[in-house]
Amino acid sequence: MKKTFTCIICPKGCEIETETGGEAPVITGYSCVRGKRYAEAEVTNPVRTLTTTVRLRSGLMLPVRTAAPVPKSMLFRCMEAVKAIELPEGPVKAGDVVAEDLCGTGVKLVACADGQ
Ligand code: SF4
Repeated sequence: MKKTFTCIICPKGCEIETETGGEAPVITGYSCVRGKRYAEAEVTNPVRTLTTTVRLRSGLMLPVRTAAPVPKSMLFRCMEAVKAIELPEGPVKAGDVVAEDLCGTGVKLVACADGQ
Protein backbone atom coordinates (compact mmCIF):
# COMPACT_ATOMS: atom_id res chain seq x y z
CA MET A 1 0.00 0.00 0.00
CA LYS A 2 1.38 3.41 -0.99
CA LYS A 3 0.98 6.47 1.17
CA THR A 4 2.22 10.06 0.79
CA PHE A 5 2.37 12.56 3.61
CA THR A 6 4.24 15.66 4.75
CA CYS A 7 6.91 15.24 7.39
CA ILE A 8 6.01 17.37 10.43
CA ILE A 9 9.31 17.06 12.28
CA CYS A 10 10.76 20.36 10.99
CA PRO A 11 9.54 23.36 8.95
CA LYS A 12 11.06 22.06 5.70
CA GLY A 13 8.04 19.79 5.31
CA CYS A 14 9.47 17.11 3.04
CA GLU A 15 6.96 15.08 1.05
CA ILE A 16 7.53 11.47 2.11
CA GLU A 17 6.31 8.41 0.24
CA THR A 18 5.95 5.01 1.86
CA GLU A 19 5.11 1.63 0.45
CA THR A 20 4.17 -1.24 2.74
CA GLY A 21 3.34 -4.85 2.07
CA GLY A 22 6.84 -6.25 1.72
CA GLU A 23 9.17 -7.37 4.47
CA ALA A 24 10.02 -3.79 5.44
CA PRO A 25 8.40 -0.50 4.42
CA VAL A 26 10.04 1.31 1.49
CA ILE A 27 10.47 4.98 2.37
CA THR A 28 11.55 7.77 0.01
CA GLY A 29 11.49 11.57 -0.06
CA TYR A 30 12.97 12.27 3.37
CA SER A 31 15.99 14.55 3.73
CA CYS A 32 17.32 13.33 7.07
CA VAL A 33 17.28 10.38 9.44
CA ARG A 34 14.71 12.04 11.72
CA GLY A 35 12.26 12.17 8.86
CA LYS A 36 12.94 8.56 7.98
CA ARG A 37 12.29 7.50 11.59
CA TYR A 38 9.08 9.55 11.64
CA ALA A 39 7.87 7.89 8.44
CA GLU A 40 8.73 4.41 9.75
CA ALA A 41 6.73 5.10 12.91
CA GLU A 42 3.82 6.49 10.87
CA VAL A 43 3.47 3.26 8.90
CA THR A 44 4.22 0.82 11.74
CA ASN A 45 3.02 2.38 15.02
CA PRO A 46 1.85 6.00 14.70
CA VAL A 47 1.73 7.91 18.00
CA ARG A 48 0.44 11.32 19.05
CA THR A 49 0.66 13.54 22.12
CA LEU A 50 -2.91 14.07 23.35
CA THR A 51 -3.73 17.65 24.32
CA THR A 52 -7.15 18.42 25.74
CA THR A 53 -8.87 19.82 28.82
CA VAL A 54 -10.33 18.48 32.08
CA ARG A 55 -13.21 20.21 33.86
CA LEU A 56 -12.29 21.45 37.31
CA ARG A 57 -14.84 21.44 40.16
CA SER A 58 -15.05 25.22 39.76
CA GLY A 59 -16.38 24.67 36.24
CA LEU A 60 -13.23 26.06 34.63
CA MET A 61 -11.33 23.97 32.10
CA LEU A 62 -7.76 22.87 32.86
CA PRO A 63 -5.47 22.28 29.87
CA VAL A 64 -3.77 18.88 30.05
CA ARG A 65 -1.56 16.74 27.83
CA THR A 66 -0.01 13.31 27.87
CA ALA A 67 3.56 13.26 29.19
CA ALA A 68 4.55 11.18 26.15
CA PRO A 69 2.92 10.23 22.86
CA VAL A 70 0.28 7.47 22.95
CA PRO A 71 -0.69 5.12 20.09
CA LYS A 72 -2.89 6.96 17.60
CA SER A 73 -5.31 4.03 17.70
CA MET A 74 -5.90 4.75 21.43
CA LEU A 75 -6.75 8.46 21.10
CA PHE A 76 -10.56 8.12 21.18
CA ARG A 77 -10.43 5.71 24.13
CA CYS A 78 -8.08 8.09 25.94
CA MET A 79 -10.44 11.00 25.27
CA GLU A 80 -13.34 9.02 26.79
CA ALA A 81 -11.19 8.33 29.86
CA VAL A 82 -10.24 12.01 30.14
CA LYS A 83 -13.93 13.02 30.01
CA ALA A 84 -14.61 10.78 33.01
CA ILE A 85 -11.84 12.27 35.17
CA GLU A 86 -13.07 13.98 38.33
CA LEU A 87 -10.40 16.00 40.03
CA PRO A 88 -10.41 16.30 43.83
CA GLU A 89 -11.07 19.65 45.50
CA GLY A 90 -8.14 22.03 45.72
CA PRO A 91 -5.65 23.74 43.51
CA VAL A 92 -3.82 22.03 40.67
CA LYS A 93 -0.33 23.13 39.65
CA ALA A 94 1.18 22.96 36.20
CA GLY A 95 2.99 19.63 35.95
CA ASP A 96 0.72 17.84 38.44
CA VAL A 97 -0.24 14.33 37.36
CA VAL A 98 -3.97 14.21 36.60
CA ALA A 99 -4.00 10.49 35.67
CA GLU A 100 -1.18 8.00 36.33
CA ASP A 101 -1.71 5.48 33.53
CA LEU A 102 -4.07 6.77 30.88
CA CYS A 103 -6.05 3.83 29.45
CA GLY A 104 -3.31 1.36 30.27
CA THR A 105 -0.85 3.09 27.94
CA GLY A 106 1.61 3.59 30.80
CA VAL A 107 1.57 7.32 30.00
CA LYS A 108 0.70 10.01 32.54
CA LEU A 109 -1.74 12.85 31.88
CA VAL A 110 -0.34 16.10 33.29
CA ALA A 111 -1.70 19.59 33.91
CA CYS A 112 -0.33 22.30 31.59
CA ALA A 113 -1.39 25.20 33.81
CA ASP A 114 -2.41 26.09 37.35
CA GLY A 115 -6.09 25.87 38.20
CA GLN A 116 -8.64 25.35 40.95
S1 SF4 B 1 12.67 14.71 6.47
FE1 SF4 B 1 14.09 15.81 7.79
S2 SF4 B 1 14.45 17.75 6.71
FE2 SF4 B 1 12.59 16.84 5.83
S3 SF4 B 1 10.89 17.75 7.03
FE3 SF4 B 1 11.42 15.80 7.99
S4 SF4 B 1 12.86 16.36 9.59
FE4 SF4 B 1 12.77 18.08 8.16
